[in-house]
Amino acid sequence: MREWNLRAYDMVEEQIIGRDVRDARVLEAMTSVPRHLFVPEEHAESAYIDRPLPIGERQTISQPYMVAKMTELLSAERGMRVLEIGTGSGYQAAVLAWMGLRVWSIERIEPLADQARQRLDGLNLNVTVIHADGRDGYPSEAPYDRVIVTAAASRVELAWDNQLISNGRLVAPLNVMTGGQRLLVRENLERGFRNTWYDYCRFVPLLAGLEKSSEGIKWSSL
Ligand code: SAH
Repeated sequence: MREWNLRAYDMVEEQIIGRDVRDARVLEAMTSVPRHLFVPEEHAESAYIDRPLPIGERQTISQPYMVAKMTELLSAERGMRVLEIGTGSGYQAAVLAWMGLRVWSIERIEPLADQARQRLDGLNLNVTVIHADGRDGYPSEAPYDRVIVTAAASRVELAWDNQLISNGRLVAPLNVMTGGQRLLVRENLERGFRNTWYDYCRFVPLLAGLEKSSEGIKWSSL
């Protein structure tokens, strides 16, 4: 796409700085990652607008602001190990990898996992995509410095707590009584877990088990 970097710049300026995300590393990553390569071809023109977009398989790529906010709340340093639950398009994982994090990302729908893996490899980003049920975390690479959940969860799974290092932190949209979710930051402190609540939001649900079906997703080329 022509001038995508100008669109990314405007997106960061208007939707992200404009809503008070200030972490310079987050802003730089979101200006640099080509978001239009993470959406199906028919949505490439809309890739930088202020909305989530469909990515096939009844799933969505999160709204840019939500990716920025969650990444800022994750408060991760270069070189940290991060577990993501809900790879989807791979865009959130790409932003994290761009910031110099080592990312393991889990997706329960096989064609989405395959497409995201291909896309991230094509961009040379250091992300391992795993087709699995993310409710179990990913024990074989644990512990993680950070865990980010990008699907709406009804509870914090014990596996996520257990796979977090001490002083580690988890960010997740947790279902609240209003029917939507609220962003939770959960810190693994010496005296126990501390929960802090942030923005209200709306994510696709975290579902049990694996899915292999494909409706044939068309992706924009690199
Ligand atoms: N982070 C993504 C947005 C994810 S949408 C992006 O940047 O595009 C949420 C994703 O979580 C969907 O792809 C959905 O299939 C996946 N998901 C839902 N439940 C899951 C589970 N139990 N384990 C792994 N992935 C899950």
